Amino acid sequence: MNTISGLKVHSANNTLELIYADGSSATLSGDLLRRSCRCAECQRLQPTLLMRMPVTTILDIESIGLHGLRLQFSDGHARGTYPLPYLVELADMAGQSPLSARAAGSQADQATGHASRL
Ligand SMILES: [Zn+2]
Repeated sequence: MNTISGLKVHSANNTLELIYADGSSATLSGDLLRRSCRCAECQRLQPTLLMRMPVTTILDIESIGLHGLRLQFSDGHARGTYPLPYLVELADMAGQSPLSARAAGSQADQATGHASRL
């Protein structure tokens, strides 16, 4: 599991950047984060309603203890809390994790290694 060592909001392009302890980073769009909110209120919404929601932007972030964030969105929603491991999970699902890219790269390297030995 990647450890998050820093977070940055880029309001110009509405993304949250996760900075990992190894110096790599991943970005999550504010819109994806809003739709991935796990608060009780959003859990009660139909998934189709969540998908049809207008695009929202991140207005503010607040850390909760050491292991989570509360995000405030432009649609007025500010109840969503995002534990850091959940953010890593979202970045992985979005295919933007530098670790998964690296894993894919190392598999390719291995394949090349086998090929050259043949
Ligand atoms: Zn919510």
